[in-house]
Amino acid sequence: MAYNITLIPGDGVGPEIAEAAVRVLEATGISFNWEIQNAGGEVYEKEGNPLPDRVLDSIKKNRIAIKGPVTTPVGTGFRSVNVTLRQALDLYSCVRPCKSYKGARTRYDNIDLVIIRENTEDLYAGIEYEKGSEGAKSIISLVEKLSNKKIRQDSGISLKPISVFGTERIVRYAFEYAKKNRRKKVTAVHKANIMKFSDGLFLEVSREVAKDYPDIEFEDKIIDNMCMQLVQKPELYDVLVLPNLYGDVVSDLGAGLIGGLGLAPGANIGDGYAVFEATHGSAPKYKGLNKANPMAVMLSGVMMLRHLGETDAAERVDNAIASVIREGKHVTYDMKPSPDDPSAETTSGVADAVISRLNS
Ligand code: NAD
Repeated sequence: MAYNITLIPGDGVGPEIAEAAVRVLEATGISFNWEIQNAGGEVYEKEGNPLPDRVLDSIKKNRIAIKGPVTTPVGTGFRSVNVTLRQALDLYSCVRPCKSYKGARTRYDNIDLVIIRENTEDLYAGIEYEKGSEGAKSIISLVEKLSNKKIRQDSGISLKPISVFGTERIVRYAFEYAKKNRRKKVTAVHKANIMKFSDGLFLEVSREVAKDYPDIEFEDKIIDNMCMQLVQKPELYDVLVLPNLYGDVVSDLGAGLIGGLGLAPGANIGDGYAVFEATHGSAPKYKGLNKANPMAVMLSGVMMLRHLGETDAAERVDNAIASVIREGKHVTYDMKPSPDDPSAETTSGVADAVISRLNS
C-alpha cells in the first residue's frame, strides 16, 4: 500500500530540501504517492492567491502533508501562507522537538526538550488594523470609552485573543503528548503578570488542565525568565507549552540549543490533519545553491513516519541522520566549524549520505 501525501515544496531553499527529504523517505522502501501542490509568492503572481483552495483540498483529501518553508513578505503584501494554512485546517498544535545529536556543534549536550506551541490564536490571529484605517480609529475610540486609556492616533493595532477553548486543547495536547511519550514534566510559559486577561487566562486554564494529570509534574514560568533558564539550565525542562508568539520565538531558541535551525523539525497537528515542516524559514539567500541543510525537513519526515505508525522506518531514518552527524563529514556548511569550510557537503550530498547509511 502506498501513502497518499500532499507535498508542498515551498520556495527559497524549500524545493531542494524537500527533494532531499523525499529521496530519503522513499529509500526506506515505504511507498508514497506524492501529490505536489505549490503555494506562496509565485502562485500569488499567477493565481492571485498564495494559498489556493486546491492546496487545502489536497491536504483535506490526504490528511497528511509535508512542506518546505514559504516566504512571507515583511510589513506589506499577502499574509503568511504558513499561518493561514494552520488556521484554515485548524492545526492547533505545533510540536517541535529539540534533541541533541552527538557530533552537532553546540554549547550543550543532552538537550531533550519538546516545544508545544499553540498555533491558531494570540497575536498570530491576523486581526490587525492599519494606522489611520477606519478599524484602527474605531478601536482607539472604543478603548478610550471602555477603559479611559489613550492610544495614540497614529497607532497600528494587532489584537491578541487567547481563549479558554484554545488554551484548554493545547495544554491537554501537551499533557497527552507527555503521557504518550513518557515525559515527566510540562511547563506552561506566559507573561500573566502583565497581560492578566490573555496570558492570565492561559495560565489559569493550564493549572486546571494539569489537575487531570497528577502523574505529570506541572509548573509555570514567565517567558523572559524562561528564555534565561533555557540558556542556563535547559536540562531542567521537558515539555513546554506556550501561546503562539512565545512558542515561535522559543522554538528558534530551542533550535539554537541543539546546533541550529538546520536540525529543528516540526509538525502542525489538528484533530483532522497533520502538516510536517521544519522550524526554519526559506533562507532565500541560499536558494538554488544546493547548500542548505535538509536535515530539519528530513527529521520532520521522521515525525511523519511515526505519525503514520511506521516506527521502524522512522527509527532507521533517525539513526541514519544521527550517524551522518556523528561522523561530521557529509554535513552542510552550518554544521562545520566555520561557514566557509570548503569540505561542507551539498544538500543533495547529505541525502546521498543518509541514504547510504539507511541501506548499510
Ligand atoms: P530563516 O529560518 O529562513 O533563516 C534564519 C537563518 O538561518 C538564516 O541565516 C538562514 O540562512 C539560516 N537557515 C535557515 N534554514 C537553514 C537551513 N536549512 N540550512 C542552513 N541554514 C539555514 O528565517 P528568516 O530569514 O527570518 O525568514 C526567511 C523567510 O522564511 C521569511 O519570509 C519568513 O517569513 C519565512 N519563514 C517561513 C516559515 C515556514 O514556512 N514555516 C518559518 C519561518 C520563516
